[in-house]
Amino acid sequence: MLATKILVPAPKIEERKITELLLCGPGPCNIWPSVTEALTKPIVSPICDEYYNAMEDIRLSLNYLFQTKSKLVLAISGSGHSGMETVITNCVAPTETMLIATRGIWDERALNIAQRYNINAIPYRIPLDSTFDFENIETQLKKWRPTALFITHGDSSTGTVQKLEGLGELCHKYGALLIVDTVVSIGGVPFLMDEWGVDAVYASTQKALSGPAGISPVAFSERAQEKINNRKHQPPFYFDVKLLAQQWNCYGNTRAYHHTLSAPMIWALRQCLKEINKRTLPVFWKTHHDVTKHFHKRLQQYGFKFLVPKVEDRLATVTTVVLPRGYDYTTFVRHMRENYNILIFGGLGPTAGKALRIGIMGVNATIEVADAVAEAMAGTLKALTKSSL
Ligand code: PMP
Repeated sequence: MLATKILVPAPKIEERKITELLLCGPGPCNIWPSVTEALTKPIVSPICDEYYNAMEDIRLSLNYLFQTKSKLVLAISGSGHSGMETVITNCVAPTETMLIATRGIWDERALNIAQRYNINAIPYRIPLDSTFDFENIETQLKKWRPTALFITHGDSSTGTVQKLEGLGELCHKYGALLIVDTVVSIGGVPFLMDEWGVDAVYASTQKALSGPAGISPVAFSERAQEKINNRKHQPPFYFDVKLLAQQWNCYGNTRAYHHTLSAPMIWALRQCLKEINKRTLPVFWKTHHDVTKHFHKRLQQYGFKFLVPKVEDRLATVTTVVLPRGYDYTTFVRHMRENYNILIFGGLGPTAGKALRIGIMGVNATIEVADAVAEAMAGTLKALTKSSL
């Protein structure tokens, strides 16, 4: 007997059924069948060639996904927040200023992260159902002269998409780096990193890429790399892109061990990117645009109202809908799940109790899914009228 004193007995773990749902919230969404298969591939060690070959496929595909020629592209072990923490802490030093264009919960998270690192974080807030115009941003840049501007491209808490063309140039005019969250926009909405002058970007796998959460692509422009290479501060070890670049072999022939990246996540991300490369970005963007247009038309026919008033501000991957007075959002979401096996979400952060959030993206970006969700929503509206009004 090696251990005579077992003070904590082993709990009995019961079999639990996990129902497969049509995941039409703001993420996670369902995954490609080929990704399910990729997740079962053998585990290899971080020193194996298979690992590095897959990482190289990933880096090249991320150059395509973000539309950047940058060498510093890689993926962080962790969900979207790990990408957020990485770009902020590598690009902005403690006591430097970061201006945060704030309209949803992700910008508030960026504020929280920045404050924990003693960054002088300045939120610039606008109403949750709108997007930023560049004149106001310029006034803020002039006023604060920040090291960086943080902005969210697609906001899954509000269902808005921010125009970014020209924003990099504006930031650079005032000496600021442009940091962008593309977690729920990448792959589903046009994004051109180099063309738009974006300096640091992060994404995630569980939205339009249709993979499991747990690995987050990031990329840095030359301007951001210069800042990173000359910095005096130390970002957290786990998120230090100078060290991670050596593991990801970004500048060639380093292959240094930093941490044990999860092999299944590497296989999964590689496969998600393969699915997108195969379709091509312009086709995938158009698919999301067309399917959402159809979905919105169906919702309007059923009398649903959108949270975001301007059509051009509405995000193609996540739609926010306001229910008529007297309806309870939680009851609506539960009814959809129990009666249609469809998971949509209520609001989050500024939209909590104010909207439904419906995500039709990635593998689910089809007319069939859009129709099924619109019909289920109409059925739910009708069913709940009797009981709740
Ligand atoms: N940014 C956006 C736009 C998101 O939608 C999310 C996730 N819903 C995040 C950041 C955070 O990502 P995660 O939950 O994967 O950490």
